[in-house]
Amino acid sequence: MRRLIKIYDTTLRDGTQGEGVSFSMEDKVRLATRLDALGIHYIEGGWPGSNPKDLRFFRRMQDVTFKHAKLAAFSMTRRAGSPADSDANMQALLDAGAPVATIVGKSWDFHVMEAIGTTLTENLAMIDETMLAFCATHSILISTSLDGPRDLHNRNRPRPGGDSYEKTIRGINLARDRLGRDQVAALMTTTQSSLARARDIVDEYVAQGFSEIFLRPLSPYGFALKTKSYAAYGVQQWLEFYKEGVEYIIELNKRGISFRECYASIVLKKMFTSDDPGYVDLMSPAGIGIGAIVYNYDGSVYASDESRMLAEMGDSKFRIGDVGINTYEEIFASAKLLDPIEESFAYSVPMCNDCAFEPYCGADPVFHYGRYGDFVGRKAESEFCRRNMGIFRHLIARMEEDASVKRLFLRWANG
Ligand code: SF4
Repeated sequence: MRRLIKIYDTTLRDGTQGEGVSFSMEDKVRLATRLDALGIHYIEGGWPGSNPKDLRFFRRMQDVTFKHAKLAAFSMTRRAGSPADSDANMQALLDAGAPVATIVGKSWDFHVMEAIGTTLTENLAMIDETMLAFCATHSILISTSLDGPRDLHNRNRPRPGGDSYEKTIRGINLARDRLGRDQVAALMTTTQSSLARARDIVDEYVAQGFSEIFLRPLSPYGFALKTKSYAAYGVQQWLEFYKEGVEYIIELNKRGISFRECYASIVLKKMFTSDDPGYVDLMSPAGIGIGAIVYNYDGSVYASDESRMLAEMGDSKFRIGDVGINTYEEIFASAKLLDPIEESFAYSVPMCNDCAFEPYCGADPVFHYGRYGDFVGRKAESEFCRRNMGIFRHLIARMEEDASVKRLFLRWANG
């Protein structure tokens, strides 16, 4: 099979950023002509929105005819908070008149929040109709963040204009309209401000037409650790929040509103059925690389999303390969993946082997490595264990107390 490689040269933009490098406009014209003579397919001429010199270069190039190459003007996605049709960078890109426009969009959450200074919610709001059409064609499910009612969501996810919530709801409705209701999900993040608002959060999900909610604690990785929000509340506080949320959901069901809590449903499925719901943290052995795999934008392959978040904090323990370099066998049979899997058979892990809840649980090597530096960790003081034991005990106690709750939980288990 014949493979065609197209070469995109960035000398006239990236190449001008080195120390002591300064091209005049005529230098750039001469270089562009030489690159064209070499047979380069695309020549990036500069960023017209960043300085008037680059814009003048593109105007000058309208008098130059290439034999092979196409001239490209570089820019970035519209700025956060302004529509594309009034964005200065976008306008400069059009003014450049180049036949090719190259637009870079940030995808790494560190870049989104630290480099362009916006929020993940706003970055996702830049998704437009063309992207939704792509999702529809390829059956891609969209999951967004909805932390609760307007005031709580806006507080958790501040952005210029204070309208994170409005944008999120608009995005959810637009995506539902284009992709179908069941193709759009939402996840919430529990911050310290959420702890007293369990009922309000559930009400918001019901009001927005969702049939379930995943009441989740913060994970000790990435942004939550960096901003110290992970340490803002303890396991016991989160458990109180969780129990209040589940109680309220039970109450709603008793009133005829069908709604469920996702984590309880996963645990109940493990308790009452022979099906494994395939939830990575509760699989034995762990679901890393088996129940989930993460391909990052730079080609890195991670054993799970938590592994990727750990790498963002500088620890690549669970980076198991690179799609551009390694074969499938090298990635999935690597010791970096097989070693933690081998040490996460809950039945044989120290303390798990004595734990009453072992059949419903998993030993989660990523969490324990992140907190204690090895795959097993110290279960006696593990937040993962205390949280899960609290949930298992509560669900069992509620079924023992109330036969109608047991019937409801059996429906969740088999749903
Ligand atoms: S709760 Fe902790 S000790 Fe018990 S099975 Fe789960 S990870 Fe192991």
